[in-house]
Amino acid sequence: MKSIYGYTEDMLKEYLINKGEKPFRASQLIEWIYRHKITSFDEMTNVKKTFIEELKNDFILDDLELVVNQKSRDGTQKFLFRLSDGNLIETVLMCHDYGYSVCVTTEVGCNMGCQFCASGMKKKLRNLEASEIVLQVLTVSNLADVRVSHVVVMGIGEPFDNYDNVIKFLKIINNPLGLEIGARHITVSTCGLVPKIKEYALFDLQVNLAISLHASNNDIRDQIMPINKAYRIEELIEAIRYYIEKTNRRVTIEYILIKGLNDTKECANELCNLLHGMNVYVNLIPYNEVKEKPFKRSLKEDMVQFFDILKKRRINVQLRKEQGGDIDAACGQLRSKHTKNEN
Ligand code: SAH
Repeated sequence: MKSIYGYTEDMLKEYLINKGEKPFRASQLIEWIYRHKITSFDEMTNVKKTFIEELKNDFILDDLELVVNQKSRDGTQKFLFRLSDGNLIETVLMCHDYGYSVCVTTEVGCNMGCQFCASGMKKKLRNLEASEIVLQVLTVSNLADVRVSHVVVMGIGEPFDNYDNVIKFLKIINNPLGLEIGARHITVSTCGLVPKIKEYALFDLQVNLAISLHASNNDIRDQIMPINKAYRIEELIEAIRYYIEKTNRRVTIEYILIKGLNDTKECANELCNLLHGMNVYVNLIPYNEVKEKPFKRSLKEDMVQFFDILKKRRINVQLRKEQGGDIDAACGQLRSKHTKNEN
């Protein structure tokens, strides 16, 4: 049976038409599911019994099983969920002055193999279904009893390596009758799958794009991101330019600062040359050290020097403060710890 949480409004309409029902019932269904948060179709009081029986035959209102909920001193919460097939995934809830944001996982494991990242230590076992990504937002919002206003697709997995499900997910959480998360409040982050960036440029929702660049040249990027062997920095920059041209939207460039690797003056200047004249915003992120990895966080003075060079050369830049460091809220660390404990 199919999870109803994986159905976009258009898919529901198609289903209804096939059943000889009026397509407007799709909006009714969405309101019941995401506003009234029903746990059984029987709760839908304005829908006739025979149709409820049909829904029960065709769909499930499934949920995610909570395994661990950790709370950080800064308000960040991390959730470890068990999927119906037993796999574990993690979701993070962050509290900002502008509202609550949720960071979702898109795959069980990840195949991108970025050297510095804890997520890639487990190879991808499978894609998450759209419903499993939607349920992360819904369940976290229910458990924490907050309205989620922002979503970042920056958890474990490469969203563009699970493209169709991620697109469905975006449509579902954006629906104004449902979770109503504004497209401008959603950010999808990719390590740089060039063909998908170009496809995404033509997607009709105004969702933000972030690129994990992390290096200012091919030599350094080759050392830490295997994807750079498939798509060179020049091709990636060209795809970002295409995206900006098509969407007129500013792109976020993520750049983690790793000690002695990508944090020098030369790198900062090279990055400025690479991004010169582009409508981008650079997010400098202090590297979050991972026990099994040799990489170290840059020294504070090097981070500031890097920031100052970009600023001076008129690149939009911020040095991000991290959240949830005390609860392993960074990048696959809870899941990898838990899986190890279970072994
Ligand atoms: N696959 C996507 C999204 C998941 S990772 C992507 O690569 O963008 C989300 C972000 O966290 C990426 O920018 C990733 O490079 C970064 N990241 C991974 N491990 C990190 C670490 N230990 N410290 C800081 N950032 C990390």
